Amino acid sequence: MPLIVTGTVGIDSVYTPHGHAEKVLGGSCTYFAAAASFYGPVRLVAAVGGDFDQQYRDVFKAFPNIDTAGLEVRPRSKTFAWGGKYHANMNSRETLYTELGVLTEPPPAIPAAYKGSEFVFLANTHPGVQLDLLGQFPQRRLAVADTMDLWINSARAELVALLKKVDGVVLNYDEAELFTRKNNPVTAARHMLADHGGTNGALKFVVVKKGEHGCLFVHKDGVAALPAYPAEQVVDPTGAGDTFAGGMMGYIAQQGAEGRLKNPASFEIVQQALAHGTVVASFNIESFTLSRLQTLKKGELDARLREFSKMVRV
Ligand code: AMP
Repeated sequence: MPLIVTGTVGIDSVYTPHGHAEKVLGGSCTYFAAAASFYGPVRLVAAVGGDFDQQYRDVFKAFPNIDTAGLEVRPRSKTFAWGGKYHANMNSRETLYTELGVLTEPPPAIPAAYKGSEFVFLANTHPGVQLDLLGQFPQRRLAVADTMDLWINSARAELVALLKKVDGVVLNYDEAELFTRKNNPVTAARHMLADHGGTNGALKFVVVKKGEHGCLFVHKDGVAALPAYPAEQVVDPTGAGDTFAGGMMGYIAQQGAEGRLKNPASFEIVQQALAHGTVVASFNIESFTLSRLQTLKKGELDARLREFSKMVRV
C-alpha cells in the first residue's frame, strides 16, 4: 500500500495534571507511524541527532510494521526536542520550549525505494520542508498535511504554497482560526477550501480537530462532524492529533492495499477513516509517550471501533 510519513522524531518532556515524563520518545511522525502501523506497513522519514539513544530506538521495535530505514542519524546534530505543559482541564497546553536541532538543517533524504509511495502524510514540521518532501513522491494518490501555530506564524507563505498542492489538511480549531482569521470552524475550513482548492489548487478537504469535542470535516462534497471517543482516562494528550491522522491515513492506505479504493480523497472514505483516527487517538491519550500504543492489541482497537460505531449511530 506504501504509506509514508515525514515529520519530526523528537525527545519530549511533558507535564500534565497526572504527572510528567521527561526526555521520552515523541515527535509528529513517531506518533503517526505508531498509529498507522495497526493498519499495515508505514515508512518513516525523519532526521535525528547523535543524542538519539538506543532507548528511543528500542521503542520502535514494539511496532514491527514501522519501517525505520528512512530514519537518518546525524551524529553531530541534536534531535528535535519539545516540552509541553497541559492545564487542569487538559484541553489547552503551553509549549515550554521547542529546540529545532536537526530541523534547521537540510531535510532527510528519501530512500530511493520509498519514492513510489502512494499515500503521503506530511506530519508537522517546517512547511518549506513539507513542500520539498512532497515533490519527491510523483506517484502519490493521496497527500495530506498537518500544521501548527509555530509554522502558521513563522512560515505562512510556504504553508500557503503547500496547501495548494495537498489533497487534505488536518489542523486544530485554534490553528484554523489563526490561519484564516475566521472564528467559526466551518467558515474557516470553507475559506481554506476556496483559497486553495477548486481552480486555486488541489485541496479537497479540511479536518478541523477540536480535542475532546471531536472533529469537523469540511470536504468539497459535503460537511460532517464526528465526536471524540468519550474517554475517561486521559493521562497525556500529546500525540492525539498525530495518532488521529495515523489511524485515518492507515485505514485509507489499507483500503488501497486491499484494492477497495477508487478515490482516496472521496467524502465517504475520509469520513470512515476519521472514525479510525478517533479511536486510535483515544488509546494514545491513556498514557504518557507511546506506552499505551506499545501494548495495544488490534483486537482491542477493533472492539472499541465497534463500540464507537454504535455510539455515533443516529
Ligand atoms: P500533537 O499532540 O499531536 O500536536 O503532537 C505532539 C508531538 O509533536 C510531540 O511529540 C512533539 O515532539 C511534536 N511537536 C511539537 N511541536 C512541533 C513542531 N513545531 N513541529 C513538529 N513537531 C512538533
